Amino acid sequence: MSDLSDLYQSVILDHNKRPRNRGKLPTANRVASGDNPTCGDQCTVYLKMDGDRIGEIAFDGSGCAISQASASLMTTQLKGKNAVEAEAIYKEFSDIVKTGNAPEEFNELAAFAGVHAYPARIKCATLAWHAALEALKKPEAGA
Ligand code: ZN
Repeated sequence: MSDLSDLYQSVILDHNKRPRNRGKLPTANRVASGDNPTCGDQCTVYLKMDGDRIGEIAFDGSGCAISQASASLMTTQLKGKNAVEAEAIYKEFSDIVKTGNAPEEFNELAAFAGVHAYPARIKCATLAWHAALEALKKPEAGA
């Protein structure tokens, strides 16, 4: 089990060091932002829809390591997904973060299972995901 927790620790460190899909997305047609005032985290999520699927996804923001690593992981998990699939992945992630119950096989989402011990940080971990789901529900910009 300790090998697995080392692996999960390295997932978070890696997403912090080399955030995926970070920066504004000039071609985005859906955008949503969120913030977490108790921690000072801010996050904006940009989506470029390809039909009903997320063709491109990016995030921009600042905040604690958990919020930034989670945003980076979120972009890698939701790219290519439609709204129903994205909701399902978010639900899996939020269950792991809130309960600490990780699946037995390796799953990057479970890297954040340890957050459940710090209830104040759960918002840090879910901030970017809320912004992404909100963006998915918005009508296309300019439409
Ligand atoms: Zn935070």
